[in-house]
Amino acid sequence: MRMKHGVRFTFAFDRASRTATAALIASLEAVAGDDPSCTVRAVLFERLDEIDFDTALVEFVCMSAMTSGFPGRAEALAALKARRAGAFRSVIGWPHATGDPRGALEAGFDYCCAGEGEETIREMFELAASGRDAAGAGGVFTMRDGGVAGERRRRAVDLDEFDALPGRTRFPTYIEIGRGCMWGCAYCQTPRIFGRSERFRSPARIEETVSRYARWGMTDFRLLLPNALAYGSVRPGAPEPSALEEMLGRVRSSCRGGRVFLGSFPSEVRPDYVTPEAVAVLREYVSNESIVIGGQSGSDRVLASVARGHTVDDVRRAVDVAKAGGFRVSVDLMLGFPAEGPADREATFDLAEELGGRGARVNMHFLMPLPGTPLAGVRPAFLSGDERRRLDGLAQRGIVRGHWRRQEETARRWLDREERSRDA
Ligand code: SF4
Repeated sequence: MRMKHGVRFTFAFDRASRTATAALIASLEAVAGDDPSCTVRAVLFERLDEIDFDTALVEFVCMSAMTSGFPGRAEALAALKARRAGAFRSVIGWPHATGDPRGALEAGFDYCCAGEGEETIREMFELAASGRDAAGAGGVFTMRDGGVAGERRRRAVDLDEFDALPGRTRFPTYIEIGRGCMWGCAYCQTPRIFGRSERFRSPARIEETVSRYARWGMTDFRLLLPNALAYGSVRPGAPEPSALEEMLGRVRSSCRGGRVFLGSFPSEVRPDYVTPEAVAVLREYVSNESIVIGGQSGSDRVLASVARGHTVDDVRRAVDVAKAGGFRVSVDLMLGFPAEGPADREATFDLAEELGGRGARVNMHFLMPLPGTPLAGVRPAFLSGDERRRLDGLAQRGIVRGHWRRQEETARRWLDREERSRDA
């Protein structure tokens, strides 16, 4: 039998990428359990420069980034390469790399993992362990002869074949209970990365993870789903309260004394899924006092332009239903959509004010045109001085909060950077 090469994967993670990292470690751990040639370690991103490398191993350093964090990842890679050239192969994954494999590779990464990583990372291990190039794994892109080579995976992973959290190492974070989204909002990477069919982990599989981590002392269980009330749903806009209840009931009973969170950050709820029945189930089982509803705009014209599939009145109705069901409510709104004119923006400010009057809080965001989405590279409508002043006034009155200033600046810097690199 041919000797296998020892392979080590080092995952550099931060708070935002912790859940994605957990899924990859969980996938590799299942292999490493039977195969000592596979080792895995995780390191906080800011401590990446402290790691050592073993020349006897094939070393991979894996990072993941959203678009706003990508320049920082590329800089960290350049610094590590400058000190430890040739000691490792670098891998980048997650939404930014999935949307723009070429850009990720041109920034210096050896491999770009596009899409879901659980099967890809196992294939990379098998290839590297047998002395072959990990670029042969499905879903991996690399530079070859000056061009980008690679193919996206065709099949979505079956979530029940993989643990949400590592089963050997304690790595607590959000528990991903489903993936994909049947909606296609123009600014959102989720359906473009994970597909438009929604897949859910089974209640039994979720319960297994919760039980194990409860035994390991975890007390807060935060469940993650792009559209939190869609668990088990099979039709657009129609929640399945019975599926939700079965899953939440099993989670609760497997973590007695623990707290369960769903529908609060970072999961949000589409307004059309906020029905009295679904809210009643949520209220019975979760510990969060508030839920976050994705409202996005106060203008029906703008909502239609980004294919949201709901109206402003749906947002008003959802706020009332959620409040009547016993929740405090936050509504996510966003500014900067390309189709948004001054009147649309006024409508969003008016909606924020109206929702504030109904006792809701508004989280205001500014659009980031993300790679891989229909809005990639499109310049958002930036705010005027008067609009900023109106927003500041709403913030001072406690109606609006959020990081829209920083997000607007990030979007501006990102697009300037893109335009400079296109012109170079
Ligand atoms: S409903 Fe939410 S997750 Fe789905 S596409 Fe729209 S923004 Fe993305």
